[in-house]
Amino acid sequence: MADSAPAPETEIAPFELYALRYATHGGRKAKDNFLYADPHESGADLDYFIWLARRGEEVFVIDTGFGQEAADARGRTLLRRPVDALALLGVDASAVAQVVLTHLHYDHAGTLSDFPKARFHLQVDEAGHATGPCMCDAKARAPFDVENIVAYIRSLYDGRIEFHRGDVELASGLWLHAVPGHSAGLQAVRVFTERGWVVLASDATHFYANMERRNPFPVLYDEAALIRGYSRLLELAPSPNHIVPGHDPAVMRAYPASSTALEGIVVRLDAEPLLSWEALAR
Ligand SMILES: [Zn+2]
Repeated sequence: MADSAPAPETEIAPFELYALRYATHGGRKAKDNFLYADPHESGADLDYFIWLARRGEEVFVIDTGFGQEAADARGRTLLRRPVDALALLGVDASAVAQVVLTHLHYDHAGTLSDFPKARFHLQVDEAGHATGPCMCDAKARAPFDVENIVAYIRSLYDGRIEFHRGDVELASGLWLHAVPGHSAGLQAVRVFTERGWVVLASDATHFYANMERRNPFPVLYDEAALIRGYSRLLELAPSPNHIVPGHDPAVMRAYPASSTALEGIVVRLDAEPLLSWEALAR
């Protein structure tokens, strides 16, 4: 829990922070992305990301995405396996020690076997939900993939799951924050960078516009909690432009590519955004 006073920011060494785009889902309509009818026509297609926080030898991978089987089963376009996306930044997934799972949905917690040395950080409530009686209901289990859950259980029995409850400082400059609603135990990740604290919302807001309009993405566990989560994200971030949504293709336009070779694949979230909040949330 957040019971100790955080270190003064001047004492925190900043992380490099990246969004890595590994899959996409085209042909969607705007109405697929908002629970309530919305006159806007923006934000139809979904992109899929994992995130990387790196500070010298310290590497935190945030989420593990999905592989080809899940892409085929759900009609998504896999652009590259998450492990291959990480390799583009010189990160060897087989050596990664710390992985945060924001939640256990199929697009965030697949490919665990690509991270054989990792400890996985997960909220207790997410684990209980994904393996408990709620999964008797087909609609509730639809966003999960049983093979991922089996792999999660194997990691648990390997002693490689670290459970968290609520808010926790995982390292100086890297916090986990429970922001449930989309799923029972979703956690956002707050990372200190050269431009201050940046909040990786994951699916606490799929698009900038879900939060801006307080109109949730239609996959949800607890609507009231999800709406409260938007306020929580805004509390955690120095400004809305320090919040990074979980699936918005605008993220690729909002931030500079990490190199020209990785244009459209990897952007630097620790750099100032190139677009205003108003443009992003439109
Ligand atoms: Zn997702």
